[in-house]
Order: sequence, then structure tokens, then C-alpha cells
Amino acid sequence: MSEKKSDGHGNLTYYIIGAIIAAIATGYFAPEIAVKFDVGGEVFLSLLMMMVVPLVVMSVMSGILGLGDVRKLGKPGAYAIGYYMCTTVLAVLVGLIVVNIIKPGVNKDLEGLQVKIKKVEKGSAEYDQLKVEIDKKKKEIQEKINKAAAKDEKARKALEERKRLQGDGLKKLEGELKYAQILYDRAESDLKENSDSEILKQDFQIASYNLQEAKDAIVREKEFLGVNKEPTIWDIIQNMLKMLVTDNLFKAASNMNLLPLIVFSIIFAAMLTTMGDKVFAINRMIGQGNEALMSFVMLLMNIAPIGIFCLVAGKFGHANLEGKLGEMVGQQGYYILTILLGLGFHAFITLFAIYWLFTKKNPFTFFKNMSQAVLTAFSTASSSATLPVTMECAVDKAGISKKSTKFVLPLGATINMDGTALYEAAAAIFIAQIYVAFDPTIDITLKGQMIIALTATLAAIGAAGIPEAGLVTMMIVLTAAKLPVEAIGLILMVDWLLDRFRTAVNCFGDSVGAAIVDGVMKEADGDEPEEGDSDDELVPEGAGS
Ligand code: ASP
Repeated sequence: MSEKKSDGHGNLTYYIIGAIIAAIATGYFAPEIAVKFDVGGEVFLSLLMMMVVPLVVMSVMSGILGLGDVRKLGKPGAYAIGYYMCTTVLAVLVGLIVVNIIKPGVNKDLEGLQVKIKKVEKGSAEYDQLKVEIDKKKKEIQEKINKAAAKDEKARKALEERKRLQGDGLKKLEGELKYAQILYDRAESDLKENSDSEILKQDFQIASYNLQEAKDAIVREKEFLGVNKEPTIWDIIQNMLKMLVTDNLFKAASNMNLLPLIVFSIIFAAMLTTMGDKVFAINRMIGQGNEALMSFVMLLMNIAPIGIFCLVAGKFGHANLEGKLGEMVGQQGYYILTILLGLGFHAFITLFAIYWLFTKKNPFTFFKNMSQAVLTAFSTASSSATLPVTMECAVDKAGISKKSTKFVLPLGATINMDGTALYEAAAAIFIAQIYVAFDPTIDITLKGQMIIALTATLAAIGAAGIPEAGLVTMMIVLTAAKLPVEAIGLILMVDWLLDRFRTAVNCFGDSVGAAIVDGVMKEADGDEPEEGDSDDELVPEGAGS
């Protein structure tokens, strides 16, 4: 795939843009027809998703094998992690700055009244009058909040159902534990009476295993229920450490839990590089498997405009029918504007500047080269599903070496989410701005905002690259900032749209990272052109071929 494949793909970006515009128009003017395209969208998304697990495993492994010597991983690896951290923190800062400037959650009337009342003497007629007005305004806002929460009937019901199930689940597990204990006691006394019986010994073993299982299940359930308790920063960090590994690689793969797969692939491939020609066949198979998967992606890209049309038309059609398009005005409109401005600033100013600083190349050209991936991210709202396209664009359009692409992009799609981090920070402050009118204990001072910044960074790292994952990890930010969790109702209605924009920024952020690390790798290789990019280079040094 090292030769450029411009033919047939040249106009693809325009087709995709056309598809998105046509899809939005269909969703707006003919929502009943638009939702019929759902199935096409689902098929396209599944086709992309289908590639993700094998592609991540193969590409990370072949990326490491391509390095030849794993010790070479050090500098580019440190750059990649450093880049992820710096850009995520910058994104959070941008989010905080825009939300503090625009203040989408602050009710201007209420704020005006509160400023006025401070200047008026207590007990005077004017003071009482202002007090009445303030209370009225607060009531109005409260009603709006309640309405927003109630409007999302589905979310509320799901939450209630979950709580109910959790309660029942624990009761059921406790019942099972009691039963397992009875069986265990019985098996134990039977065995005591007849200690030579092989069958009773087996029964006893099974009973003790079941008892332990029942106990473990309760611990797990309690831990899960504990998620609703206020997590400390340390809890969050502990959870993130646990996320790096899994007790079952296949379970991780089936849940699209990519981080443990990446960790496994890195270690496995690193081991292969030390084993010489004993593993020649595996090394070659990994390299060729990776090439074949990338060709599969190229094939998929040919139907991308149709798939993307179906995906976007279906989503906008549903949103229109559910009245969500109406949410785009009013206070929600300000909120959307804030997030979009923040995301725009981060993508076109921060990331452009970083790209230029490190590569000295034109960021506009780079953006144009990556545009198919960015548009696919917008359409799928999933960084993981977009990963195959991002990798294809990075290599074939932007000219980033396969070595860096394979190494930086899968990891980036999983842990580097600038758009999500920016959104989590800004959305939390937006909610705080609304709630502080009622609850003065809500802390939106610098210290309060720092807590939000830190948890938003961690929450973004922990968010999966799937649609609306950021909304789930948003709970962590809300609880850490002592904000009511049901406030999520205020941002739920428009999240389906914002998710698309933040995923596009996530994807572009990863691509810039790949370009920068590519520069570092080339420097480390002493500017050797694309070493390790072909199959033949996948055989570790010392492997006789
Ligand atoms: N949908 C985003 C992604 O896949 C994650 C999020 O919800 O912010 O990158």
C-alpha cells in the first residue's frame, strides 16, 4: 500500500460532503423518509466496526515489529504520550475559557437582579420588590430544568429501570449466596460423615466453588453500585489502571475494549522482536494480515458516501421527529455555540499551530488530506469505527509513514480525546452556571474549575471511542464537582449532535499526533526514508530469511 492510490479516491471527500448535506436536508424536510435509511447506516457502521478489533491488533503488532528494535519505541512513545497529555490539557483549558466568556448557563436577567439587590439596603421596599422578582426568576429556571429532565422520558426511564434492576440484582445475588451456603454446609457435613467417597469430595469442591462465585458476584455488584457514590480522584486513577488490562482477552475484544488489546499487542510483538527467526512465519503473517485489512478498508471507502448518507439521514430524521432540532435555539443554542466555538478553536488554532510548529508544513493541506477521516468521524460519532479510515488517510493522503500510523493512531483513538475533554469541561461548567443560582455551595471558583478540569481530562482518557461515550463518563465529572447527576438532562437533548463534532476533533487530534511522532521517528532513524514500512521489514533483526 505504499504506492499512492489517488485514482478513484480523489473526489471522495466531495462525495462525502455532498452526502452529509443531502442527508441533513432529507432529515429536515422529509424525516419520515430519512429514518428509513437507518438500516443502511447500521450496515455501514457495522462494516467499519467489524474491522476495528483485527485492525487494532494487527496494526499495533506490525507497528512494533516494524520498529525492529523495541528500544527504539522510547522516544516516539514518550512523544506520543506527551502529545496526548498536552493537547488534552490544552483542550480542557480552551473549553473552560470559552464557557467562562460566553457563560451559556448564566441567566442574564437573574444575574442583573442579583447585582442590583446587592446595592440596595436590606428591608427597603425596593429590596423586597427585587427579592420577589429574583424568586420568580429562580422558579422559572427551575421549571425549565425540570422540563428538560422530564422531556427525556427515555433516559429517565432507563435510569430508573437500571436503579431498580440494580436493587433487585443485589437481592437476587444475596438469595443465591444463601442458597450456595446451604449447599456448601450440606456437602461439608456429608463429606465429614463419609470422607472416603470420591463423589462427595467432588460435590464438596463444586459447592465451595459455587459459594466463592456467589460471594465474588456480590462484591462485584456492590462495587458497581458504588459507581454512583462520589468517586475520588484516586478512585478514578485506580480504575484507569485497571482498564489497561483484562482477565479475558476475548471478552475485551467482544466488548470492543481496545486498551487491553493494545497493551497485549505491544507486549506480544515486543516479545516477537526478541525471538529471531523462530517466529519468522508469525511476523510475516502479521504484516501481510495488516496489509490485507487495509485493502479491505480501501474497498469500504468506495461505499462511504452511501453509508454516510444513510447514517446521517437516519440520525437527523429521528432527531427531527423527536423534536430535538427545536432544542437548537434558546439557552441550548448558546450552549451548542460555546462548545462549537471551543472545538473550532482547538482544531483550527491550537492543533494547527502545534502541527505547524513541529512539522513546519501547511496545516490546511494536512486538514484537507485528513478530511475523509474527519467527515467519517462526524458521521459515525465513533473514533473507533473511524480508525480504519483515519489510518488509510494518514498513510495514503497525508504521507505519514505506516510505522508511525500503526503505532500512534490505534492508541490515540482509544485514549486521546481532545474534543471529548473540551466538551466535558465546558458542559460541566455550563451545568454549574445554571445550578449555582439555586445552590450557592456549588463551586465555580478557580479551585472548583480545576477539579472539573482534572476530572474532565481523566474522564476523556477513560471514554471509549463509541457514540455518546462522553456522556457516560460525564457522570464522573458531575459527581466530582458535586453537581446533581440528573442535570445530565440539560445536555442530553443536543448531545447526539455535539458528539459528532467532538468525535471529528478527537480524530483530527490523533492525526496531528501521528504526523508529529512521524517526524520524531524519522529523526530517530536519521531521516532514513520509510524504513520498516514494507512487509519485508517486519522480520526482526537477526532473523534469517
Ligand atoms: N463519540 C466520541 C468518540 O468516539 C466519544 C465521546 O462520546 O465523546 O470519540
